[in-house]
Amino acid sequence: MKKIFTVLGLAFLIITIIVVVKTVSNKPISNQKEVVLAALPQNAIEHMSAAIQLRTETPNDDYQFDTLTFMKYRKFLENTYPLIHKNLPRTIIDSFNYIYEWKGTDTSILPMVLMAHYDVVPVEASAIKLWHAKPYGGEVKENYIWGRGVLDDKSSMISILEATEAQLAKGFQPKQTILLCFGADEESSGKGATAMVKYFKSIHKRFDLVVDEGGEISTEDNKSVKAPIASIGVGEKGYVTLVLTAQKAGGHSSIPASKTAIDMLSNAIAKLSQNPMPTQLTTPIEAYLKSISAYNENFWEKMALSNLWLFKSNVVNKMAEQPTSNALIRTTLVPTVFNSGVRDNVIPTFATAYINSRILPGQSTKDVFDYVQKIVNDTNIKITYYKNYMTEPSPTTDVNSKYYKRVEKAVRAVVKDVVVAPMLMVGATDSRNYREVSEGVVNFSPLTDAKGYHGIDERMQIADFQKCINFYTFLIKGE
Ligand SMILES: [Zn+2]
Repeated sequence: MKKIFTVLGLAFLIITIIVVVKTVSNKPISNQKEVVLAALPQNAIEHMSAAIQLRTETPNDDYQFDTLTFMKYRKFLENTYPLIHKNLPRTIIDSFNYIYEWKGTDTSILPMVLMAHYDVVPVEASAIKLWHAKPYGGEVKENYIWGRGVLDDKSSMISILEATEAQLAKGFQPKQTILLCFGADEESSGKGATAMVKYFKSIHKRFDLVVDEGGEISTEDNKSVKAPIASIGVGEKGYVTLVLTAQKAGGHSSIPASKTAIDMLSNAIAKLSQNPMPTQLTTPIEAYLKSISAYNENFWEKMALSNLWLFKSNVVNKMAEQPTSNALIRTTLVPTVFNSGVRDNVIPTFATAYINSRILPGQSTKDVFDYVQKIVNDTNIKITYYKNYMTEPSPTTDVNSKYYKRVEKAVRAVVKDVVVAPMLMVGATDSRNYREVSEGVVNFSPLTDAKGYHGIDERMQIADFQKCINFYTFLIKGE
């Protein structure tokens, strides 16, 4: 008996030593050299302001497309960036999506793509009074540029153009060919990006690194990490909506049956909310946790993150407690529409609900369907896919790849003492299509704690504008 306790005690001691050593030796990358940013190009702020004043709202359907404004935006680009329009051949895809090709000196290297979109979501009429600036005024005040689209995604587009124009003015020619790709409908159908990729496939073009909007810098999200965290998007979750329909003959509400279509459907939805899909730590999220672990200033958290071999389930359970981190470790299911009934005294025959799901890499729309069917487990509930709109989760870009490393280097060139970590995108971007023509798609722009996406007071710090232009310049110069 005594022997067993001795062995157990020894094992416990060894594990404790390993845990402590791994925690204490997990040190941040220290003393990054000083960051010196080039000043904003002359008139860059005026250009951004002018871009915002052109109301390139994404239409709800193709018939409402405001051709005149999109034409004006094209004229604005031509007038504002003369060197680009003189030196970089432009291909127009489906009216308003643009590809500019900047030939490199070494055409044996696959081209790099810098992409962005310039359509914006509409401003809610009822919310205009809550704004602290005119949504389409392009105002510059309190060290911010204000307006719809200044972050999403004219920040990227104008920064790419400013960086390119400035380098052309210096007579610079890149070694690697660079394509600038700008979409006009990312916020609605995303057909532009699909058409551009279709075009690239038709001419057998493949790409090296592709950089699109998505990941950003945060100083607020993780309370235990004091350094800014730059999250580089390396993959996107999938998307599907399922329609659940319950059918049972209704009738007069004075003589109800024990179970109605509404009861049956409510029961099915309750089962789904009580049985979320299981958690899973995917490769990008595990890499994210490892990347930030050294910078965690809470000893216990750092210990858990530095020893995922032992504490993985504790970490995952903790992440499941918050909606933002929960979305990173499981395929989510949420009811978004519930429809039934016509009159207060009629028992309806049908009840329908939409269940929206965002799918982790490694799982599929079919897996979601099968899971929902298994949990609902009721032959009276018919389950179908909503319309044909669904996307599988994207493949993920390897964190050890040259593409990721190159963007990491560019981030470090513009932000001092930054923690760089991979991230999974929970929403969809145009770049998803580019995975068919590149292994190096990443989502990042160096905006910091940006506020107002799709909402009130969308605004960009002027300092961030400077960072963005420097970031793209670094990539263009291929340093
Ligand atoms: Zn966007």
